[in-house]
Amino acid sequence: MEHYAIAIDGPAASGKSTAAKGVAKALSFLYVDTGAMYRAFTLLMLEKGKDCASREDALSLLPSLEIEEDEKGRIYLFGKDVSSRVREDDVSKNVSLACAHKEVREKMVEIQRKMASTRSVVMDGRDIGTVVLPNATLKIYQVASVEARAKRRYEENLQKGFSKESLEEIKQDIEQRDKIDSTRANSPLKQAEDAILLDTSDLTIEEEIHEILVLFHKKVGEETWKHLVPSH
Ligand code: C5P
Repeated sequence: MEHYAIAIDGPAASGKSTAAKGVAKALSFLYVDTGAMYRAFTLLMLEKGKDCASREDALSLLPSLEIEEDEKGRIYLFGKDVSSRVREDDVSKNVSLACAHKEVREKMVEIQRKMASTRSVVMDGRDIGTVVLPNATLKIYQVASVEARAKRRYEENLQKGFSKESLEEIKQDIEQRDKIDSTRANSPLKQAEDAILLDTSDLTIEEEIHEILVLFHKKVGEETWKHLVPSH
């Protein structure tokens, strides 16, 4: 059976994961949150008292690393569910450093490609369309103004209790993370040439999901669409 892949890349807090989850649900595809994998690795580095900027420290933890993600996008580090823990401030502030090491990225890309080799997926991250799945069926590069992104993340944090940072602090964190992510040497955040730019600043989550589904429908054509989404 043919497998399909939707790659959604973009800067921090641009609404990728919520949209990706909704799209995956509508199509019965597997949702893969690649940021959660880098966050879990960062948590491990912090727990072991390592320096996230040190390549040597990162390399020392890679050989025995066990990271898994389940069907619901929950993330496990050595079998322990760390899905909420990896959203906390210490991880958010260090993840861009820990994930910039070449060997860390190679290991994660290997796991991510394996996940996409057996099932149709919606995968979100920074390098999915450019590096992980260059032959993805549809590539989206999702952006939103930094104000809109900070506001969304602030409200999410309030709701879920991940962080007590102010709106301004979150805005600064996001800007800092975007800067590191887009200027790093190894697979920096950038729009793939064949990715479609989607500005979600003024879109509701339902509109975002709808937009991506319409683009996917166009890509695969009516026959495949009817097969994947029989109720439409
Ligand atoms: O998507 P999220 O904001 O949770 O990602 C956390 C961090 O993980 C990003 O800021 C980025 O540094 C890193 N990341 C990455 N490549 C990916 C996904 C995330 O470098 N594919």
